[in-house]
Amino acid sequence: MENDSELQDIRDSVKTLCAAYPEDYWKNLDATGGYPTEFVREMTDSGFLGCLIPESYGGSGLGLVQACAILEEISRSGGHPGAAHAQMYVMGSVLRHGTVEQKNRYLPAVAAGELRLQSFAVTEPTTGTDTTALKTTAKRMGDDYVVNGQKVWISRVQHSDLMVLLARTRSVEERVSRTDGLSCFIVDLRGAEQRGLTIKPIDAMINHHSCELFFDDFLIPAKNLLGEEHNGFRVIMDGMNAERILIGSECIGDARYFIDKATAYASQRVVFGRPIGQNQGVSFPIASAYAQTEAAALMVQQAARLFDAGRPCGAEANMAKMLAADASWKAGDTCLQTHGGFGMSREYHIERKLRETRLYQIAPISTNLILSYLSEHVLGMPRSF
Ligand SMILES: Cc1cc2nc3c(=O)[nH]c(=O)nc-3n(C[C@H](O)[C@H](O)[C@H](O)COP(=O)(O)OP(=O)(O)OC[C@H]3O[C@@H](n4cnc5c(N)ncnc54)[C@H](O)[C@@H]3O)c2cc1C
Repeated sequence: MENDSELQDIRDSVKTLCAAYPEDYWKNLDATGGYPTEFVREMTDSGFLGCLIPESYGGSGLGLVQACAILEEISRSGGHPGAAHAQMYVMGSVLRHGTVEQKNRYLPAVAAGELRLQSFAVTEPTTGTDTTALKTTAKRMGDDYVVNGQKVWISRVQHSDLMVLLARTRSVEERVSRTDGLSCFIVDLRGAEQRGLTIKPIDAMINHHSCELFFDDFLIPAKNLLGEEHNGFRVIMDGMNAERILIGSECIGDARYFIDKATAYASQRVVFGRPIGQNQGVSFPIASAYAQTEAAALMVQQAARLFDAGRPCGAEANMAKMLAADASWKAGDTCLQTHGGFGMSREYHIERKLRETRLYQIAPISTNLILSYLSEHVLGMPRSF
């Protein structure tokens, strides 16, 4: 069980750090498509982004419960942790599946901020959620793998030195099971655009720095294979529970941000000679969003604790992400409604946060796919695909 006062200290430190990056900082980045370089640097230097890296590799050696508190506080402050969160969970794939040489080479450098491990490339334009059907190939040729194919929505790739890539090493015809034949690689992105990788930023609804990637005979040294060859699906799946729980904590931060704002505005905005929050038509949706958020937060906490204890947490991680994403969406919609027309003004930041939190109905896994997981794997109903 985590130590409450240690957790509060972490929250307070993150809050203090975030106070130097007010909402206008994020609003300006959103307007210009800018990346929060200074913020990410400070988060790294303070040890927060390396919090899950064991102390033996130069990190803080904390658990997912603490990592969740960090991301939640960024969201709650009005910031957008999506700019930096991947380092926490992508690192886990290297930690759990990397060779001793890979861990020694990358983890201390990531912890020290000398290397950024912010990117992972799974999704493809023609196969989407059906990861086991992905088409990007990596063919072994001597000491290298030659990669050809396309990825889409790969975030932060222009702000990262390393990327974990999932590609097909065995054809669909030759694979021995649905998940067989995929492999993970650590890709060094430095100078990659001169070596057969084309990166095209996607103009999107939120400032998430997502790109299309085109691999054209792109070489990856064979020593950069991460985990066993053909068993890369497992490497990726392993990191997914952590990712879902961490995203859940961001949603809780968003939801609490919205509830704080809605509550304050409902208490001070006077229409018809009284605060609008005196009308239960205004206060009840906020109270309802609050109850939904607190329930979701318990599920996020439960999933994180199970993860830290090394216990199975697939069902909890999925439920945490779904419930938290629903709570933040409901809280955001309520917050905007509470603000009336002003909610639409960029000056109030709500519309930006609402766009940002909307992502989590879709990524890193859509709500339907979570319901499908629960239906089949938890409730034992017939498989649909
Ligand atoms: C801003 C952003 C950042 C992202 N960052 C990354 C990243 O860094 N790396 C990465 O690899 N990917 C990333 N993604 C991709 C993201 O994980 C996918 O968009 C997501 O998994 C959904 O895949 P898709 O977009 O191909 O949708 P599709 O798979 O085409 O699905 C479309 C819709 O159909 C529904 N659907 C599909 N199949 C079924 C089914 N069998 N039953 C019920 N419903 C179904 C889905 O729920 C969804 O609503 C990002 C996406 C976005 C938008």
